[in-house]
Amino acid sequence: MYDVIVIGGGPSGMMAAGRAAERGLSVLLLEKNDTLGKKLLITGGGRCNVTNAEFDDRALLAKFKDDGKYLFSAFSQYSVKESLEFFHLRDMETKVENEKRVFPVTDKAQSVWDVLVEYMRSQSVEVRSNAEVTGFVKEGSEIVGVTLKGGEILKAKSYVLATGGKSRPETGSTGDGFEWLKQIGHTVIEPQAVLVPVALKDEWTKKLQGATLQEVRLTLFQNGVKQESAVSKKTGRVLFTHFGVSGPMVLNMSQDVGELLKYGEVVIGLDLLPNQGHDRINTMLMELFAKENKKKLKNALGTIILSTLVEPVLTLSGIDLDTTNSNITREQRIKLIQTLKNIPLHVEGLLGTDQAIVTSGGVKLDEVDFKTMQSRFFPNLYLVGDILNIDRPSGGYSLQLCWTTGFVAGNNI
Ligand SMILES: Cc1cc2nc3c(=O)[nH]c(=O)nc-3n(C[C@H](O)[C@H](O)[C@H](O)COP(=O)(O)OP(=O)(O)OC[C@H]3O[C@@H](n4cnc5c(N)ncnc54)[C@H](O)[C@@H]3O)c2cc1C
Repeated sequence: MYDVIVIGGGPSGMMAAGRAAERGLSVLLLEKNDTLGKKLLITGGGRCNVTNAEFDDRALLAKFKDDGKYLFSAFSQYSVKESLEFFHLRDMETKVENEKRVFPVTDKAQSVWDVLVEYMRSQSVEVRSNAEVTGFVKEGSEIVGVTLKGGEILKAKSYVLATGGKSRPETGSTGDGFEWLKQIGHTVIEPQAVLVPVALKDEWTKKLQGATLQEVRLTLFQNGVKQESAVSKKTGRVLFTHFGVSGPMVLNMSQDVGELLKYGEVVIGLDLLPNQGHDRINTMLMELFAKENKKKLKNALGTIILSTLVEPVLTLSGIDLDTTNSNITREQRIKLIQTLKNIPLHVEGLLGTDQAIVTSGGVKLDEVDFKTMQSRFFPNLYLVGDILNIDRPSGGYSLQLCWTTGFVAGNNI
């Protein structure tokens, strides 16, 4: 029998576990992956925007719009100042960038991970990885155990649910906790499916209004790092509009775009020739240049790509529009191939929605006591991090919620 079992080894679970153990409680943390904090390591494009340097709680919580009113009691116990002190005391220096975004000076999410893991180790939190929880065991209004895959039941006096939300399921956040909460009578708001066109910043795309690309591939990038999206695995149609791009592939990708926009700039890489590799395109171009060697490139490239795209592609490749095929250098050819495979489309936003509308889903906030993070239905159950249905903007606010709710739970159990 432990004092506390924490389910989920993400940032909120690690904070809650460390703090409860620091107070002398015996704590077991269960993580289904073989390692802790997989999502934490990809935050901020691998740099981890650890919080937002807004020290005025009123201004900070205003960023959470209507949800801010729920958060005052938790933030009055542990806010940005305390979170930064926590990391600084453990030798993780930070720096503040634009919009008050705070990053570790190392520019590595690993530094944040190291602090949390060492915090738990130093406070003797028992960590079990490869330990997938399948549900709660409850008696009346008390949780009396958790069941592990394989049937083992583990018991504690209190439980912290820190299994995260549903975004980026490959990191382990598969929404398991949502299912268990529903089973025991909590209300869980489902993540909102967003199917909307995407507005782009790139002026040149406006001239393409009405153009349709038949078989292209789209890949998402944040801070230059490729992001997983089911849509990237397929090819399909993209339509240029007066504001940006639309079409089935774009609509299907919009949920992922909306999620990523919370954490920073998003770029869509447009591959105009998804069925051809770099070598094949190189051969196609060499053949074209040999056959049409007197022609200007701009008048020849239309045999390979849509003619309305020729000018922007050459401009993006840094090739003068009057260059003749016979004058193309090897470097220009390489740059041209790179552009054909990955035209950067800079996302302005989702059309017809405010970014905050992309709800990640989670437990209804009225059902949680934010003074302690206790469930209002099960007093020995604490709910922290992304399991809560809180909309927040980009800028380090999500992790700040993890530090605050994790600390408050660990401090009040
Ligand atoms: C691409 C991306 C970039 C981001 N960048 C930033 C950023 O720079 N700044 C910021 O503030 N926020 C950022 N976020 C948001 C931030 O990552 C999340 O808010 C945060 O990770 C939530 O932490 P958590 O502890 O609640 O849950 P998670 O990090 O989702 O962790 C949940 C853990 O629970 C485990 N788990 C799940 N189910 C079970 C089970 N059945 N049994 C046992 N264990 C289980 C999972 O494996 C996982 O380790 C980003 C998110 C994404 C997707």
